[in-house]
Amino acid sequence: MPIFEYKCPSCGKMQEILVKSGSGKAPDCPDCGKAMDKQFSSFAAVVKQASNIPPQCHGCPKGCHHG
Ligand SMILES: [Zn+2]
Repeated sequence: MPIFEYKCPSCGKMQEILVKSGSGKAPDCPDCGKAMDKQFSSFAAVVKQASNIPPQCHGCPKGCHHG
């Protein structure tokens, strides 16, 4: 499940919240109760970058010719 970062527009409180799929409802600020705004954290970018790394074949002298 993705974790989104929310920021309160009223008091500036920031909170990371685990979001269930299909739920588009903004959480309330724990401090003042206002609806928080979703922030685009660097978490998603890091995951995307990691997935671009191709799988390496370790310990195979001729490359990847398994099977
Ligand atoms: Zn607040």
